[in-house]
Amino acid sequence: MDNRQRDYIIIGSGAGGSTVARGTSKRKKQIFVIERGPETAKMGKPLASTQFYDGNHITLKMLHSREGVGVVRAFIGGGSTIVSVVTELRCLESEIRELGIDLAKDFTEVEQELHVGPNFPRLYSNGSRAMIEAGNDLGYSLNPMPKFIDASKCRKCGQCVFGCVHGAKWTAVQYLNEAVADGAEVSYKHQSHEGACLREESAWGSSR
Ligand SMILES: Cc1cc2nc3c(=O)[nH]c(=O)nc-3n(C[C@H](O)[C@H](O)[C@H](O)COP(=O)(O)OP(=O)(O)OC[C@H]3O[C@@H](n4cnc5c(N)ncnc54)[C@H](O)[C@@H]3O)c2cc1C
Repeated sequence: MDNRQRDYIIIGSGAGGSTVARGTSKRKKQIFVIERGPETAKMGKPLASTQFYDGNHITLKMLHSREGVGVVRAFIGGGSTIVSVVTELRCLESEIRELGIDLAKDFTEVEQELHVGPNFPRLYSNGSRAMIEAGNDLGYSLNPMPKFIDASKCRKCGQCVFGCVHGAKWTAVQYLNEAVADGAEVSYKHQSHEGACLREESAWGSSR
């Protein structure tokens, strides 16, 4: 990072960081994003995903918190959205409304912007079809999960959690790219640490 002054430094380019970067860049602010992971990585295969999944890269086991909870996250431009399975659900909407905060309009805005829609029958697996039929037979109506996915690009490879190679999934990289187009700068393979910005030469090789 050089000595030029910026309006904001954003740590991480995942869902949160990229959204803030995009919004603030649009307002003509000087933004510098520090991203721990690489800009791009080979995606779509379990082994390739060890480049960016946080875990033991030798045993391929995920990390656990002291309490024993498995921690799944990705260190890569776009963050964990790269490995998400793109299901869109309105989380805690009614609970938050009880606190006097109505997020309905915000949810609708996000759903429109990310083209959230019901899954397309073409993408159902045989297992899903069997479940829907069994549900119908029992008198239940099973509804597909809404997804933020461009169904026309999906090849139904089932490798979503290793990074979509077909560009069907929405990821935060789209917002990050918009931020960059509006002048934001991104520094990859750096991580913030106790207020300082450290280069991770050993983990990721030399930085660009
Ligand atoms: C396998 C999987 C499937 C998921 N599926 C869904 C789904 O279907 N639907 C859904 O809504 N959500 C899903 N999620 C959750 C969703 O991806 C996360 O809630 C969301 O990405 C969190 O956003 P974030 O910005 O907080 O973190 P992240 O998106 O993880 O971004 C954090 C970023 O910060 C970077 N970083 C971390 N530490 C540092 C540091 N010290 N210095 C610099 N950079 C740093 C990371 O490299 C990363 O890019 C899924 C998550 C996973 C792991």
